[in-house]
Amino acid sequence: MLKGKTAIVTGSTSGIGLGIAQALAADGCNIMLNGFGDPAAIERLRQEIAAQYGVGVEYVGADMTKPSEIRELVAEAVRRCGSADILVNNAGIQHVAKIVDFPDERWDAVIAINLSAAFHATKAALPHMIERGWGRVINIASAHGLVASGEKAAYVTAKHGLVGLTKVTAIETANQGITCNAICPGWVLTPLVQQQIDARAKAAGIPSAQARQDLVREKQPMLDYTTPEKIGGLAVFLCSEAASTMTGTSLSIDGGWVAQ
Ligand code: NAD
Repeated sequence: MLKGKTAIVTGSTSGIGLGIAQALAADGCNIMLNGFGDPAAIERLRQEIAAQYGVGVEYVGADMTKPSEIRELVAEAVRRCGSADILVNNAGIQHVAKIVDFPDERWDAVIAINLSAAFHATKAALPHMIERGWGRVINIASAHGLVASGEKAAYVTAKHGLVGLTKVTAIETANQGITCNAICPGWVLTPLVQQQIDARAKAAGIPSAQARQDLVREKQPMLDYTTPEKIGGLAVFLCSEAASTMTGTSLSIDGGWVAQ
């Protein structure tokens, strides 16, 4: 379905971004990987995805806190793969602390990576999509883009902002063959969440398995973690013809978290 198209997936060396990159590649899409990690492991990943799905896979390690590097990421996707048809704004970090204790530098980093980076990447990619009359922008927001939790001021602010950016992008591109939607996952077991599980287990002096269960139970009626593969499936659907009039929406995939 996506044969010949190119997707830029920010933060795709791990977790949800990697799941999305693999799902898009499985559908025939060329992939521009991005994110941090061990260079040898990233190169292995790049080669594995290319070999498994028979698509072009490139990597640019642009730092999402730096607008000039974000612009370069998009430019490199066009240069190396020929286009920038799909943009998945996925890179994200978390910091957990009460507002009164929240380090200024962590606030700035969370806002830069989880929100401003999506603006800069969208700004750089849209002209290419407009030129070709087709495009998909998928913003990986969160249940925290729709509701709040304590101790996550920067993350909740960034994700609510990302839902707003999704709507503006959708309105501005409505008649140009482009859609923009947000995916709002609940708990997905990735390194980002594992850090929170480890911190909780340590603070409460409980086993990691119990902390994992407690975390999901606190927010979700459904006691299962979503997987990166399931988020990947939703992203592929958003790129399909069936979803061509879906735009400006926020799709929850959260085990009922925000239904309450
Ligand atoms: P993860 O930690 O597994 O992956 C994050 C990715 O972002 C990695 O590839 C990392 O290298 C990259 N990254 C971090 N800082 C970067 C920077 N400055 N520049 C470039 N890349 C950078 O996390 P994840 O759980 O897969 O999260 C991915 C997205 O999904 C995030 O936006 C997160 O907020 C969102 N999300 C996650 C969950 C969850 O439960 N895991 C739930 C809702 C939303």
